[in-house]
Amino acid sequence: MKISVEGIGEFELSDNSPLILLLDKIKELNPKKGLPVAFLSPSGEIIDWHTPINSSAPSLSLKPLYPEDKEALLVLRHTASHVLAQAVKELFPKAKLGIGPAIDEGFYYDIAYERPFTEEDLAKIEEKVKEIINKDLTLKREELSKEEAKALFQSLNEDFKLELIEEIPEDKVSVYRQGDFVDLCRGPHVLSTGEIKAIKLLSVSGAYWKGDEKNPMLWRIYGTAFFKEEDLSAYLNFLEEVKKRDHRRLGKELELFTIEEDIGPGLVIWLPKGAIVRRIIEDFWKDEHLKRGYQLLYTPHVALLDLWKTSGHLDFYRENMFPPMELENRAYQLKPMNCPFHIYVYNQKRRSYRELPLRFCELGTVYRFERSGVLHGLLRVRGFTQDDAHIFCREDQLQEELIKVLELVIYFLKLFGFEEYKVYLSTRPEKYVGDEKRWDLAESSLQSALQALGLPYEIDPGEGVFYGPKIDLKIKDVLGREWQCSTVQVDFNLPERFDLVYVGEDNKFHRPIMIHRALLGSLERFLGVLIEHYAGAFPFWLAPVQIKVLTIKDRVIPYAETVSSRLKSLGFRVEDDFRPEKLNYKIRQAQLEKVPYMIILGEKEMETGTVSLRSRKGEQLNNITLDEAIERFKSEAQPLFGAS
Ligand SMILES: [Zn+2]
Ligand SMILES: [Zn+2]
Repeated sequence: MKISVEGIGEFELSDNSPLILLLDKIKELNPKKGLPVAFLSPSGEIIDWHTPINSSAPSLSLKPLYPEDKEALLVLRHTASHVLAQAVKELFPKAKLGIGPAIDEGFYYDIAYERPFTEEDLAKIEEKVKEIINKDLTLKREELSKEEAKALFQSLNEDFKLELIEEIPEDKVSVYRQGDFVDLCRGPHVLSTGEIKAIKLLSVSGAYWKGDEKNPMLWRIYGTAFFKEEDLSAYLNFLEEVKKRDHRRLGKELELFTIEEDIGPGLVIWLPKGAIVRRIIEDFWKDEHLKRGYQLLYTPHVALLDLWKTSGHLDFYRENMFPPMELENRAYQLKPMNCPFHIYVYNQKRRSYRELPLRFCELGTVYRFERSGVLHGLLRVRGFTQDDAHIFCREDQLQEELIKVLELVIYFLKLFGFEEYKVYLSTRPEKYVGDEKRWDLAESSLQSALQALGLPYEIDPGEGVFYGPKIDLKIKDVLGREWQCSTVQVDFNLPERFDLVYVGEDNKFHRPIMIHRALLGSLERFLGVLIEHYAGAFPFWLAPVQIKVLTIKDRVIPYAETVSSRLKSLGFRVEDDFRPEKLNYKIRQAQLEKVPYMIILGEKEMETGTVSLRSRKGEQLNNITLDEAIERFKSEAQPLFGAS
């Protein structure tokens, strides 16, 4: 078989042989970028040096993978997981191994042991890991019959591996060896442990074997690995930054929200300061929607169970719903979605083609069941308020409506400082409802809307919901993390189920198309993202407290009171700190509270009728007039006041 390696050369390799047989030849050619870490097949499969190549085709062209390729990092990290397992087995011979994959930001290994691993264990294991790396052990691949493999792992007391072997459909299984360590594995792996130049074990948590709570609990050790030391330190800095911005910690420190065990997991209480931020967003959201021809609705939090039968949610969404409750012999259901209510609003009247599009919006609170294990601050909760809307339109209006929705999404996100997004268009899945023509229309409308706005997008083929195609928008925050917030979905199903019609120009009944859309996603989630994005330092227009008035001496309190009440009368959110504390202490506290501005008043200010202004970034303007300060505040409140 002919193997051509992009940028290196062409080689002859006998069938069923590994690329390692070409190692010397490739080395001789001395490729510019050094020896490849592994290879990528035309079908996107990572092929390591060890795995025999079976190709029905007479030739195969491979793309070499180098340390800068993300696939190479996967190969390295998967190898790192083996090194981790080896280290654990050397230190804790009674430990039993589960699985150890590479993941997006590193790798983990699930390991059974009589007690959880401690921080000290982790430090010892990391030492051992580095020792093994320094030995630069070569990895070797072997193929065994299932019987041989069973005997091998039986002798090693690796019960979980035995279970895995049973599940492998092929007759043969592969193992990888390094030094005295052997693991059941398909690969891919690097050539030797020495290729791991930087490694760090990060944490331990419990994980059920195969994710099933009926199975034993294993200890999942997380780590990360890189080809370069500086990549690791950049990543550790990033983790530090993530920790600093953690919305759960900031939410508590800044008194924005709380989630109480006694109230219920995943149920959010908005504290006064968080409630202010939420109200600003809500008011703004409502105004912007009313301006754009939406009509505002309020709908109940529960409804009869039968409604959810008609809507189909009971069939395809039941596992995400709270269980029903009985009242006067009828079953009720906490709502997981707002859609059916909006449909009833549509059906209040016979609708004519002239009335369309109808746009109903609601900040609708829904309840969904999420396993307690996946709940996470404001990001994954059990009760949340969607910034929901449903648009009912004619086929010929679909594209324009989609453009308007996307424009509104972008408008909102820009306002909150999100300039970068990734857009995904999910198209018709294998199982779908509605006729093909309408699907084609919806998909091409979504596509043209994206093109009309010049939004680059990726297509997720077959990833649409069964009832229609959709656009998901992921925003990038300051740390480059992606967050799914906005979604726009075309729906052919619900109009059918609820028999929605309008009277057309031809005097006949037609089915409207329904668009579901949420711009921010939910207020809870969006606020969680915002807190992390701003690191809790909300811009002036959103800050719960915008200005703090600080006094240097008690004598200036009457003057400070006039300054403060003038600001309050103009609608600014002001807090007074007239305590007889040291100024530095007061400044530090205001800074910890991330208040955008401090107005500092001493005798000099009082005598000259001026103020000194200090921003939370430390910028200081001494002895300016209060009017000058107010001008500045007004301009920074602009996103809210000046938006059109
Ligand atoms: Zn492996
Ligand atoms: Zn909906």
